[in-house]
Amino acid sequence: MTGTSVDVRAVLCNDGTSIPQMGLGVFQMSEAEAEAAVVTARQAGYRLVDTAAGYENEAAVGRGIDRFDRDDFYVTTKLRNDNQGYDETLAAFDVSMAKLGIETLDLYLIHWPSPGRDRFVDSWRALIRLRDEGRVTSIGVSNFEPHHLRRLVAETGVVPVLNQVELHPFLQQRALRDVHDELGIRTEAWSPLGQGRADLFSHPAVIAIANAHSATPAQVVLAWHLAVGNVVIPKSVTASRVVENLASTRLALSAAQVQAISDLDSGQRMGPHPDEFN
Ligand code: NAD
Repeated sequence: MTGTSVDVRAVLCNDGTSIPQMGLGVFQMSEAEAEAAVVTARQAGYRLVDTAAGYENEAAVGRGIDRFDRDDFYVTTKLRNDNQGYDETLAAFDVSMAKLGIETLDLYLIHWPSPGRDRFVDSWRALIRLRDEGRVTSIGVSNFEPHHLRRLVAETGVVPVLNQVELHPFLQQRALRDVHDELGIRTEAWSPLGQGRADLFSHPAVIAIANAHSATPAQVVLAWHLAVGNVVIPKSVTASRVVENLASTRLALSAAQVQAISDLDSGQRMGPHPDEFN
């Protein structure tokens, strides 16, 4: 599938805002790559850009955004683990915003629960304050397990708008997604393409569906995410792939094709387990 006509659906969050269902991830991009990718993505029709303090390219993302209208973007960044704590979070937010060069952030996430620190509830209280002050529109988390989510809600009463977690056909996170549904939390998939692993893109089930639609394996995987309701943030520094990935928003899989990808879950994690990563 090629072409330029794209219409990224926006999905409603529990705070009344909506988030584009597909965005650009910029992990492991150099400053130059990130700035160029943001420009390519915006020109292709993306609005959502997902960065993090830890990616060390917030300033470059900000320069890319600055070439367009700020309101054309939905910007996410994340708090690094070593800045957890109430005052530390407020200070880290200021640093991120200065680098991004924007007035208001669309979505701020706690990057990892970091259980060894045990400060994520304090950080969450700081995010609530930033939201109440209007400095960030929506607040959420990343890599939170059900017990972390339940603790936030029990101790603060504020439910994250979304939880950004590792999620691809080989790690579908069904139990976690059930908890998200129960609590009203959107699921955002990181490494939605399984980091481009060959055994996913060459899997017979993926290839068969790709052939049926004259689509690429990456587009099939992304279309599956969209069909099951995930927000996705695929990464690419290659302009043609940035465009290709977005075109998956026009690829409608049949129920049987969605099921064929859902059947690939094997619980294979590529990144660290959140209970063990500090
Ligand atoms: P991904 O699943 O998006 O895979 C990206 C890789 O897939 C690319 O580097 C490229 O090799 C390949 N690829 C991309 N498009 C392709 C295409 N059309 N055809 C063939 N190959 C293609 O993996 P990712 O970068 O790890 O994750 C995406 C984003 O998720 C990151 O950029 C980041 O924003 C976010 N992320 C968040 C966390 C977290 O802890 N919150 C962790 C990792 C990533």
